[in-house]
Amino acid sequence: MPSRMKVRVILMSPDFDPHTDPSPTERDVQMMSRAIALADEAVDLGEVPVGAVVYDTTSGKVLGEAHNTREMHKNPAGHAEFSAIVQACESIDDWRLNHCTLVVTLEPCPMCAGLIVNARVGRLVFGASDPKAGAVRTLYRLCDDPQLNHRCEVIAGIKADQCSEQLSTFFRTLRKKPTRSTDSESH
Ligand code: ZN
Repeated sequence: MPSRMKVRVILMSPDFDPHTDPSPTERDVQMMSRAIALADEAVDLGEVPVGAVVYDTTSGKVLGEAHNTREMHKNPAGHAEFSAIVQACESIDDWRLNHCTLVVTLEPCPMCAGLIVNARVGRLVFGASDPKAGAVRTLYRLCDDPQLNHRCEVIAGIKADQCSEQLSTFFRTLRKKPTRSTDSESH
């Protein structure tokens, strides 16, 4: 099997499940394209290409958007969705995002899934699954765990091919450069 295929298979599973996931809206898909464009901007800055958008589910107004900034700010919390959530809360002057949708190109990690629950995010749409840190479907299911005090609607696997290809291209290029640790192979 060519190595490119192998990487894609790992990053794509599990995909959107039409039997359990609600369908994405047209706006969710548009916002995913926007998140992918943000992730593209991260590549030029040497950041892992993950992008995120928080929008008002009813009006479609974008309240926060970001790409990873971990390297730039030397901040382990510099994940795209973490920054987009904080930005959205600042923009509406409230920490509750029940009426919002978070769209992110990669499945959130435990830190970000925790923030999603704490910010009461209403809906989560993500692209590629993350076998190393995914805390929404792959390793844990923190965003719809009945033991926690908030559950959000989850739609997985939207434009997963494109999102995972973006990441695998980035890491392929990174491995050719000896200057940076491959420990960065998570978002
Ligand atoms: Zn994260």
